[in-house]
Amino acid sequence: MALERLQKVIAEAGIASRRKAEKMITAGRVRVDGKVVTQLGTKVDTFSNVTVDGQPIERESLHTYVFYKPRGVVSTAKDEKGRKTVVDFFEDLPYRLYPIGRLDYDTSGLLLMTNDGKLANLLMHPKNEVPKVYVAKIKGKLSPEEITTLKKGVKFDGHKSSPAKVKILKTNPKKDTQIVQLTIHEGHYHQVKRMFKAVGHLVEKLSRERYAFLTLDGLVSGKYRELTREEVDKLK
Ligand code: URA
Repeated sequence: MALERLQKVIAEAGIASRRKAEKMITAGRVRVDGKVVTQLGTKVDTFSNVTVDGQPIERESLHTYVFYKPRGVVSTAKDEKGRKTVVDFFEDLPYRLYPIGRLDYDTSGLLLMTNDGKLANLLMHPKNEVPKVYVAKIKGKLSPEEITTLKKGVKFDGHKSSPAKVKILKTNPKKDTQIVQLTIHEGHYHQVKRMFKAVGHLVEKLSRERYAFLTLDGLVSGKYRELTREEVDKLK
């Protein structure tokens, strides 16, 4: 849960400077969830109800969504080529949302959209090992050695991936393709495609099926649902 110092919350709501907010707190003018708080530095969470002189302060409400990104959509807020962006799907909502990480233009699947900068930073931090599950249709068929290399961690363009999980879902000898489930913990640019390329296979189609414990269950391409408070807490 995101905890913030009370004086910062009051200052960010535009009520007063941080110094003045401190004075308001010590003067006993501030309540958190109904209780007077005079201790400076008290931490409050995103959902606490803060009042100054009995008036609730406007807190920016934070929203995070699981979005089923279709193929053929860019994961940036604006596209210089005028292509459809993930943000376009949320234009009916009054929040300024942006994606947590990216999916390629031709990749479909699970993308988190949020206006919660702290959550985005936390989840995108390299130390945060969020497992991401991809399903790739690749050209050819992975050999046992290639599977071992992917599992151990493969070198691609100066990076080495941390150990991955590899599961062959289907092999189509007639079309010379294979459907492979790959679980990774990092999010380098084109990482999945580059990992398969490093063992000699081209990715023909890619989708992300899972992010941490979140899946696309109940969603169809182009649709989203808001995460519950419990789900957001569990991601942290
Ligand atoms: N890896 C890729 O290569 N592309 C994506 O969109 C996501 C992960």
